[in-house]
Amino acid sequence: MKNIYRQKTALKCVSLTIAIFAAALASSALCASTAQAAECPRKDALGKDALGTSRILSVDAATTPRVGLKSFPQTLPLRDHEVVLTFDDGPSPPTTQRILAALAQECVHATFFLIGRSASAHPDLVRRIAAEGHTIGHHTWSHPNLGRIKPEEVNGEIDRGIAADEMALHGTSTTTPSTPFFRFPYFESRSATLEMLQSRGIVVFGADFWASDWNPMTPDQELSLLIERLDAARKGIILLHDPKARTAAMLPAFLRYLKENNYRVVHLVPAAPSGDRR
Ligand SMILES: [Zn+2]
Repeated sequence: MKNIYRQKTALKCVSLTIAIFAAALASSALCASTAQAAECPRKDALGKDALGTSRILSVDAATTPRVGLKSFPQTLPLRDHEVVLTFDDGPSPPTTQRILAALAQECVHATFFLIGRSASAHPDLVRRIAAEGHTIGHHTWSHPNLGRIKPEEVNGEIDRGIAADEMALHGTSTTTPSTPFFRFPYFESRSATLEMLQSRGIVVFGADFWASDWNPMTPDQELSLLIERLDAARKGIILLHDPKARTAAMLPAFLRYLKENNYRVVHLVPAAPSGDRR
């Protein structure tokens, strides 16, 4: 996905270079530095010291079909002080854009579990999330409690969500997810559904801890709560919600806290690419 960004930037650079041939060398240098700065402010001309993504972790259903200690006995193989940032229930303007800006400022990548209905309403924002290098997982079409709806409707909710996300991302309505990551709304799973997802090679994500950002609280209160839980757990998959304004408000300070306390952000990607992942 980074490559898309680089390619687009490169195209602009080529055009510029052709138009002003005499200044080709200077233009190329300018474009290269702009691309780097936009991609990672850690490398900008001011030398800003951003948090940065420390490593990329490949995840696949064969090894880790279900992760997240809030729901399952297993979680991702994270080291001490390593965290994974996940955001649920988007895309949702304008808070998703604020979240993206905060992540870009610190040069970190997250995973967004999208609601298909929202992805259909905001396809440009879905593509922006992907173009900025984040991973896109799936979170059903309309966010029902899958443990409470009719069993025969469960798979339809999941597949309609995947198809809507894929349509927004790549213009193809397919129930084969380009990134096979799924999270149950409210973490309400069914054993038959878990088995179905595993048979399709789709990793089910719980979380290791969260900020409880669905509860009314100020951004400062959310920040304190999240830091308290982080320092107790020392690592893990963190659940946040990008539609929540309090989360968007506290995220820059939280990312600074991670940097200043030697936490490292791990970016998740699917282990075995299939289809058009680019
Ligand atoms: Zn949700």
